[in-house]
Amino acid sequence: MSAETTRTRSPYVLGRAEVRAVEQVSPNFVRVTFGGADLAEFGTPGDVFDARIKLVFPPASGILPDIDQDSDDWWGAYLAVPEDERGSMRTYSVRSLNVSDAGTEVVVDFVLHLAPGLTGPASRWASHASVGDELWMVGPRRGREDRSGIEYAPGAASSVMLVGDETAAPAIARILEDAPRDLRGIAFIEVPEAADELTIDAPAGVEVHWLPRGEAAHGLRVIPTVLDYLGDTGHSEITVQDAEGEDLVWETPIYSGSGESIDAVAADVGRYFWIAGESGVVTTLRRHLVKDLGIDRAQVAFMGYWRRGVAMRG
Ligand SMILES: Cc1cc2nc3c(=O)[nH]c(=O)nc-3n(C[C@H](O)[C@H](O)[C@H](O)COP(=O)(O)OP(=O)(O)OC[C@H]3O[C@@H](n4cnc5c(N)ncnc54)[C@H](O)[C@@H]3O)c2cc1C
Repeated sequence: MSAETTRTRSPYVLGRAEVRAVEQVSPNFVRVTFGGADLAEFGTPGDVFDARIKLVFPPASGILPDIDQDSDDWWGAYLAVPEDERGSMRTYSVRSLNVSDAGTEVVVDFVLHLAPGLTGPASRWASHASVGDELWMVGPRRGREDRSGIEYAPGAASSVMLVGDETAAPAIARILEDAPRDLRGIAFIEVPEAADELTIDAPAGVEVHWLPRGEAAHGLRVIPTVLDYLGDTGHSEITVQDAEGEDLVWETPIYSGSGESIDAVAADVGRYFWIAGESGVVTTLRRHLVKDLGIDRAQVAFMGYWRRGVAMRG
């Protein structure tokens, strides 16, 4: 038996992803379709949900670094590139995964946040992406069954509530399109403006509410809407909490970024909550849901997807 056949294949695909199409789908979203031979075994159609992927954007030189694709340790391989050639790694969601005889296409919806001082390498890249450009993409290899990178886990819940901002909209859309058609629930998605309401093929039993922010501060449409819906009436003054430290809030039924103890997850949790977006907004919602409304943390995944004023580091 050759070394090639005995070697365990990495559960991740680390590959060059070539831009095949770019479409500005709304004022604040650019949809980029990636393809290429390296993506042949990327992802499992129908089982994507909120799986996170990593993208590496080129440094100022515009030259994408050389990363050792054969390494089983994609993070170590990325860090092995000299810092000034490494570019920037950021986390994204898969909006769609299309597999056909022509190959695999991975579609990513990028939020454009381009205001001076509030932008970063990923958003800048997306704003001028064109066909033929290349990035590195890291994600699950097709057929793997350990759900790595997927947080959405409603178990036996009778209904779901999905809450997010524009950065979570692609994951919410994918969750609803991959979910069983008899799923019941509600989704609240805060976006910069009404024209950013995108089409989602959600199950008939899930109501999708888009909340254009307009001039309101981030979170000030979605937080009161969710609390009103849940019957929390004592919140006339909403103050969006500043997340502490550099880390994003990440508290799920099976993982606690802050080191809280994890109780056994109840077999039937009633309603399952999935909440993602700006870390301070998510932290504020968490305080109200867990502390004021007494919702069991075993029912909720709270995930900071970005943090106001802080550049991500991979
Ligand atoms: C699991 C996961 C999935 C995600 N999926 C998506 C996705 O599908 N689409 C998507 O667009 N994003 C998604 N994000 C969020 C994305 O990774 C961050 O927005 C990231 O900061 C963008 O990188 P950047 O280089 O543009 O900005 P950075 O260099 O990280 O940050 C630079 C500045 O931009 C600000 N900033 C970052 N994001 C925003 C924003 N959305 N609005 C306003 N200001 C911002 C920061 O606060 C900082 O001041 C996801 C994040 C996670 C953790």
